[in-house]
Amino acid sequence: MLRDYQVRQREYLLEISRAITAQLDLDAVLRLIIQYAVEMLRGRAGLIALRQDDGTFQVRASYGLPAKLPHLFAPLFADIPYRLERTDLARWTIPDLEVKLALVSAALGIPLRQVVALPLVIRNSLTGMIYVFRTEGAAFSANDRQVLASFADQAAIAVQNARLYQEVINEKRRLDAIIANSGDGIMILDCEYRIEVFNKALEEMTGVPASRAIGRPCHEVLDLRDHQQSHSVCETECPLKFKSPGERLYVEGDVMRSDGSVITVGITYSPLFDDDGELVNVIANVRDITRFREAEEMKSTFISVISHELKTPVSLIKGYASTLRREDAKWDEQTLRESLAVIEEESDRLNQLIDNLLDASRLQAGALKLELGYVALDKLAAQTVKKFRTQTHKHILSLDFPPDFPPVLGDSERLRQVLTNLLSNAIKYSPQGGTIRVSGRADDDWVYVAVSDEGIGIPKEEQERIFDRFYRVESSLSRRTQGAGLGLFLVKAVIEAHQGRVWVESAPGQGATFVFALPRN
Ligand code: ATP
Ligand code: MG
Repeated sequence: MLRDYQVRQREYLLEISRAITAQLDLDAVLRLIIQYAVEMLRGRAGLIALRQDDGTFQVRASYGLPAKLPHLFAPLFADIPYRLERTDLARWTIPDLEVKLALVSAALGIPLRQVVALPLVIRNSLTGMIYVFRTEGAAFSANDRQVLASFADQAAIAVQNARLYQEVINEKRRLDAIIANSGDGIMILDCEYRIEVFNKALEEMTGVPASRAIGRPCHEVLDLRDHQQSHSVCETECPLKFKSPGERLYVEGDVMRSDGSVITVGITYSPLFDDDGELVNVIANVRDITRFREAEEMKSTFISVISHELKTPVSLIKGYASTLRREDAKWDEQTLRESLAVIEEESDRLNQLIDNLLDASRLQAGALKLELGYVALDKLAAQTVKKFRTQTHKHILSLDFPPDFPPVLGDSERLRQVLTNLLSNAIKYSPQGGTIRVSGRADDDWVYVAVSDEGIGIPKEEQERIFDRFYRVESSLSRRTQGAGLGLFLVKAVIEAHQGRVWVESAPGQGATFVFALPRN
């Protein structure tokens, strides 16, 4: 009899152990445990309650009891002793348990007569309770307590497993969220360099959706090219050759985005090895460094342009000044005048260059403030043209505005700067002379001002870039004339700050017409 009982007990426990390892649903495992415990102890009913964070108990599994009335069991959980040394288990009791049972029994309307209760203990802390009830027959024996203790242990393991599992899941979710929401592009590769994870930032950076990237070799998705776009860095020198943990690799290269534009990225690769030293994953941190690269290039252009542009007028001024100052020479009135005129012009030129530079750097800092007022562009154009007439004898400067040309809301000093830059270019880039015409027209929404010349013109492929900072069209004329390549950059910035547009119509040798349009309020 006893042997039979022990065999069955072992079978039950074995089955429960299996269930625990096979199942991660805690409630299902607890239901199984309480059912077997009740059957094993020849009880009528039973329950497992788990202790919550606030110290109260919650019934998580029951057997042979109305499931809808868990609150009626509350008296059973009062004054549960928290001292939990394992050796004490045989003597561990809840005070007045019989009285409490009578209360619950009355409330339920089920004649529960006998009860045996044991704590579920995880790492010396009380995690829950297991109860088995009888409606008739003898009180539970010491052996019954012993049997129940085995079930309590199993339940404690199940709870422990479920909690660890939940912790792992939570941790994984947390890590996934960190990777997904990281501002840097993150890509995780498997040991064959196929993409396993491709985060949101990387999707945005490359224009490639994660669904298209995952599973593909990384060099297909992020094909790093050198700065001249001439060869693939990935093909010629795949950077991924890791021998030991802790190694890090930093590679820079250009990547063609899915829309055809090119960005420069810096990628840090770090390997992840398992305990046997096998490469498991490579984690790639991808940063868009296009801006840095551009800033670097800009800086070197800036230095070369500025050194050239500043030096030329300064050396002219210096040359004329020291010639005039020579004590052994007498200069006639005309030479004196002409020389001083050069000094004045070059000083103006220097001044303008410095102004342009300051404006350009203010623009870069995003601080172009407009002082708005009504501006009569026809009057402004007339003033500007008048000023330029004194500076050239080769050109005919003409004005053509309709008499009812409407005023616009704008910053008159900035718009004067626009006209000055366009006119100075028109003169500078038509060295043979010709007519320079400033004209205006208006439709319902816009006013248009055009400055046209009969000069060297601009090839189609250059027409967009001339508005870039420091950009000058390469030609024998541009080599001979001074210029920092800032004029049109400022023109465009000022016009766009007015919500307007500027463009050029031109062909090589056929002059150029620069047009800007400003909204009529
Ligand atoms: P800066 O204006 O700073 O003194 P820049 O005149 O060279 O120097 P931008 O005014 O920005 O610079 O013009 C950029 C380039 O566009 C010029 O170098 C020139 O090659 C070309 N360009 C501008 N205006 C004309 C024009 N009217 N005709 C032909 N080419 C022009
Ligand atoms: Mg210019």
